[in-house]
Amino acid sequence: MTPATASMTEPIDLKAIADALREHDRFLVVTHENPDGDALGSLLAITLALRGLGKDVVMYLAAGAPLPREYGFMPLEDLVREAPADAAERVLVAVDCASEHRIGDGETLARAPLSLDIDHHHDNTRFGDVNLVVPDASSTGEVLRDVFAELGVALTPELAEPLYIALVTDTGRFQYSNTTPKSLRLAAELVEAGADIHAIFKRVYESVDIAKLKLLARVLERAEVLEGGRIVVSHLLRSDFTDVGASEPYSEGLIDYLREVEGAELAVFVREQMGNGAHGHKGSLRSSIDELDVSAIARRFGGGGHRQAAGFSSDDTLAEIVETVRLGFLEQRAATRA
Ligand code: 5GP
Ligand code: MN
Repeated sequence: MTPATASMTEPIDLKAIADALREHDRFLVVTHENPDGDALGSLLAITLALRGLGKDVVMYLAAGAPLPREYGFMPLEDLVREAPADAAERVLVAVDCASEHRIGDGETLARAPLSLDIDHHHDNTRFGDVNLVVPDASSTGEVLRDVFAELGVALTPELAEPLYIALVTDTGRFQYSNTTPKSLRLAAELVEAGADIHAIFKRVYESVDIAKLKLLARVLERAEVLEGGRIVVSHLLRSDFTDVGASEPYSEGLIDYLREVEGAELAVFVREQMGNGAHGHKGSLRSSIDELDVSAIARRFGGGGHRQAAGFSSDDTLAEIVETVRLGFLEQRAATRA
């Protein structure tokens, strides 16, 4: 979607979403598998906002890996990992999900009487009955802030904190190219509303388990450069996780170290997946330059994401994955230079 289209459709979509949230009373709020700070922050924020309006809301995340421990301090005690018995009677609200597949439970989506899709991925498939997709927004949390304003929901400290977690994590602590004046103004607004940003920083960024540092050591040890340093690649094996005593979500964020290398245009991180029946490998891609759209490379594997950050699952071998990524990189870089 081009920004021009986004700005034309956005106010209408915003009103349609707000109307649907106002008109119904029972909701099932979901987000994507392997949730990050934006996914969990958005999940919690919309749940609290709707409950504040007197609605009956269940938070549901399809069964899978445990939640990343850096978000363990968030008040998510009543998050359920199995669809509730009355799921088919609840309006489904998906936050931060670019497609229905990301929800990880197609059956629940299919049975929902109405589905609402609130997101910021430019490649969102608009799978909901009502869709609010704002590609210019740094995070789904930033989109939700506008939804709350439309609903007349005031920002309390309880609401400001999950929104801030969404914002600070998806902007890479306000350093990624998705950080706009609007994101920075929202941060100020959330601090005014009572978000304790230093406490959040300590919990999210400085409460890591030593096992995560040991995983990082292996990622750095194995880092290799391709194409004269323009691509930096590393990987983790299942045995790395068991050796150091780390669970799967511990690998979140490790890719950021790969893109710190001078001259790197593309960072590639591949790990073996643990889950039963899951695809063999999970890949993460990060672009350090505007000209490179890594979501297009992720789509070669059926994945997706943003231009600067994308991911996929694949049953290919590590070597095959790296080669597919390398060819995708070269094709784009040749095209953009032509
Ligand atoms: P990460 O590399 O941190 O897992 O994900 C980076 C970005 O890519 C996120 O915005 C996420 O939504 C997206 N992403 C990650 N994995 C997948 C995937 O398997 N499919 C799609 N469509 N997007 C993904
Ligand atoms: Mn997001």
